Amino acid sequence: MDYDTYGSTAVELAIALANADLEPDDGVSRFLAAHDEWFTAGTSLELTASDAHKAAATARLVRAVALAESQPDVLTRLNELLALARPRPYATDHDGELHLHYARPDAPVLEQLTTTVAMGLSQVVVQHGWQRLGVCSAEGCDDVYVDTSRNASRRYCSNTCASRSTVAAYRARRKS
Ligand SMILES: [Zn+2]
Ligand SMILES: [Zn+2]
Repeated sequence: MDYDTYGSTAVELAIALANADLEPDDGVSRFLAAHDEWFTAGTSLELTASDAHKAAATARLVRAVALAESQPDVLTRLNELLALARPRPYATDHDGELHLHYARPDAPVLEQLTTTVAMGLSQVVVQHGWQRLGVCSAEGCDDVYVDTSRNASRRYCSNTCASRSTVAAYRARRKS
């Protein structure tokens, strides 16, 4: 997978949002603070309760796209997510590399988040296929991932889950 474009890296924000624990009162705020490099410098990370609910709904939609098992389902859910986006792209070289941002730089943080996540996820789905999204096969983990491996062979959300599962399979074999 060509991974050197903002279009592809923005999907990482989408995956991180889908896997984040947004449940506690300040869950969304903590997520924004941990990922503030995605927002225009100086953007207020303050959210109203209703904004926090909207961010959590966006997270659920990303997850729903990753869990969808047919192309029609992917399209329905992806378009639901895209309907929340307010794209107004602009080119920038703020980090030394010329690339596109999807949301206007002075948009409120929720708009920047939703737009970046929706556009990043869509780019990967239309360019590389929805089969690139999946849910972790490790027992007790239901995190979603985007498969960036060359042969699309990924099954786990992280190396931690992959090695945990290898050990568990080894133990299971020894027992039987
Ligand atoms: Zn950038
Ligand atoms: Zn996992």
